Amino acid sequence: MLFTASKLPADLAGSGWYQTLPPPPAPRILDRDIRVDWVIIGAGFAGLSAARRIQEKSPSDTVAVLDAQPIAWGASGRNSGFFIDLPHHLQNHDYVSDLTADRKQIQRNRFAISYAKSMIDEFGLQSCSSSVGRINAATSQAGLDALLSYSRHLEKLGEPFTKYNEKELKAVIGSGYYSGGIHLPGCLLVQPAGYIRGIARGLCGEGNRTDIFENSPVIRIETGSPHRVRTPKGSVAADKVILTVNGHLESFGLFKRRLMHIFLYASMTRELTVREQRDLGGEPEWGITPAHAMGSTIRRTRDHRILVRNSITYNPQRETTRRLISAAGKRQEASFAARFPMLGKVGMEYRWSGHLCLARNSVPAFGEIEKGVYAAGCQNGLGATQGTLSGMLIVDHAVGDHHSMVRDLLQCAPPKKLFPEPFMSLGVNTRLWWGQRRAGGEL
Ligand SMILES: Cc1cc2nc3c(=O)[nH]c(=O)nc-3n(C[C@H](O)[C@H](O)[C@H](O)COP(=O)(O)OP(=O)(O)OC[C@H]3O[C@@H](n4cnc5c(N)ncnc54)[C@H](O)[C@@H]3O)c2cc1C
Repeated sequence: MLFTASKLPADLAGSGWYQTLPPPPAPRILDRDIRVDWVIIGAGFAGLSAARRIQEKSPSDTVAVLDAQPIAWGASGRNSGFFIDLPHHLQNHDYVSDLTADRKQIQRNRFAISYAKSMIDEFGLQSCSSSVGRINAATSQAGLDALLSYSRHLEKLGEPFTKYNEKELKAVIGSGYYSGGIHLPGCLLVQPAGYIRGIARGLCGEGNRTDIFENSPVIRIETGSPHRVRTPKGSVAADKVILTVNGHLESFGLFKRRLMHIFLYASMTRELTVREQRDLGGEPEWGITPAHAMGSTIRRTRDHRILVRNSITYNPQRETTRRLISAAGKRQEASFAARFPMLGKVGMEYRWSGHLCLARNSVPAFGEIEKGVYAAGCQNGLGATQGTLSGMLIVDHAVGDHHSMVRDLLQCAPPKKLFPEPFMSLGVNTRLWWGQRRAGGEL
């Protein structure tokens, strides 16, 4: 069989996480024909955790990882950096689903987070990770209602959390904007570009049989024995192929009209001066998720910047525009000004967007799609944890280790079919518009 990429990822430049890192080494591009045991397409959370899992499960196997873009340029390097352990269903205004499903999801998320932590330890990436947890914070009535519903759900799940009132929140974040919040200790925060780059470097360390090629887009997969994966300048022959390209599975004709392509947007300030840090007050590092799912995520980074992530668009064509980034940037400036009036002179230095993928029924696109060809994509609202998890589990599946977490994912229904256009776009856009309106001050 032949799978041809009808579209390649082209994330627009501008991510603050990427730009504030030291310049990367010269890219290693695939420019010849090679033979390996495994080829992984996509070097995000899913692809890199798959590569690590192969090193553990089949240490003598050779692995090539190919990414169309520079390492850490895609969504995994440009997100808000929250590895969330608790339920986080973006489609529901208060993030929750039913108790049994959520219990299982928490167990899987924690498994993934402990895997991420083990890579952080092994590859010495402590400088780009933090265990301060996250605060789910509310300001609007809609947000407070959502927070109440979320905390009741957590009580039923037996999950610990600490309630913060306005004053306690101000002591942490320096802003009196929020009226209430709950601190959730199990969330891991990362500098996503540093994390992805560090893992990629670690995987290729001495003695490992893994090679990672960037700026090496896969344009065609010819299945056979071996399978052959082609890029513009070379090819990889391999016994097993793993596609970890998230929404770009659809670009290969897979899960057609079953994946929802969503873009999220973020801005990051310049570094705060020592005086501005004093004016702001609060703790040196924290992360806020909005109590209402359509609100703003805010982070204070270790290098003294503030990140504002809000605005969501539905882009079935799998690309966004500078115009949309700029419109979202205006909303982010307003959200920043409302929260941090004491930082009136601080402007945004970076603005960007990135692609994530949802299924109508919140399931992953996971499994063997043809003999020896596997997919682990569609991470829904929790790409850091779910991506890490699905990358590990797809390897477990491929080597025949069918433990209960693998079985759970394999038993999921496939992503539900989308409604025909223009009804799908109309429906999603209306829902996003209405949700963002309802988020009120949470935005
Ligand atoms: C602004 C923003 C904030 C977010 N915040 C969070 C957050 O705080 N927490 C969270 O859990 N999630 C967050 N997300 C979502 C999360 O980033 C994604 O869900 C996650 O990155 C998915 O991981 P992945 O490895 O499956 O796919 P990706 O990160 O999309 O990686 C897939 C890779 O495949 C490559 N690729 C695609 N096609 C080809 C091809 N033909 N050939 C070769 N390579 C190809 C791409 O270049 C890409 O690098 C956020 C997303 C954005 C945009």
